[in-house]
Amino acid sequence: MDRANKIYSRIISALSSERCPVCAMLYQDEFDSLCRWAGKSGETYRDSEQRIHLVNAGGFCNYHFWQFQRISSHYGTANVCIVLLVKLIAVLNSVKHKHNLNILSAENVMKCPLCYELKQKEAGYLKELTNILEDDDIKPKYVSGCGACMPHFIRLMDYSDDELLLEFLFDTQITQIARIKSDAEGFIRKMNPSSRWEQTKAEKKSWLLAIEKIAGKNGV
Ligand SMILES: [Zn+2]
Ligand SMILES: [Zn+2]
Repeated sequence: MDRANKIYSRIISALSSERCPVCAMLYQDEFDSLCRWAGKSGETYRDSEQRIHLVNAGGFCNYHFWQFQRISSHYGTANVCIVLLVKLIAVLNSVKHKHNLNILSAENVMKCPLCYELKQKEAGYLKELTNILEDDDIKPKYVSGCGACMPHFIRLMDYSDDELLLEFLFDTQITQIARIKSDAEGFIRKMNPSSRWEQTKAEKKSWLLAIEKIAGKNGV
């Protein structure tokens, strides 16, 4: 299966995940990638292309470094950090007489390779999603799901100038948000123990879907 077909199939299955399809795919990508990084955290991978790339980037961003250490072994984390610490010592020694830390400014060091990888993938997913949604057979599947979270909905606008598709995306977004709102209201209305058993599945998870719709998946 070529890359384009693979992305197409993944989006189609993500549409039934009841989550923002782009967030759902990126969440899986992030986990898979963290596992690969953790798998190469041992001493034997010290000179690997991947490790050199990580060191040149100055390590992961704050979020991904802490995610990485949850998956990696303590020895793996120590191995990766030693190389970064060696680099930090070299940098500090090179600037200590100038008392100038511009070289360590956020713009210079925060080029997290995992953030970069996910950004690249996100662009590909958004582009393919707009292509897929041109298909009238797919549109009802998209409407019945969670649809794009607001951050991805906003970014989707950059990938199409088809007025009909944009109108469909806006109408769908409003319909889905109204549905989640209505489910959340039903969830609260039936909060008394005597009526809790009447809560629907959609109402029970409405609070979670509301956050995801507004803000996107945690950490993505
Ligand atoms: Zn999203
Ligand atoms: Zn990152």
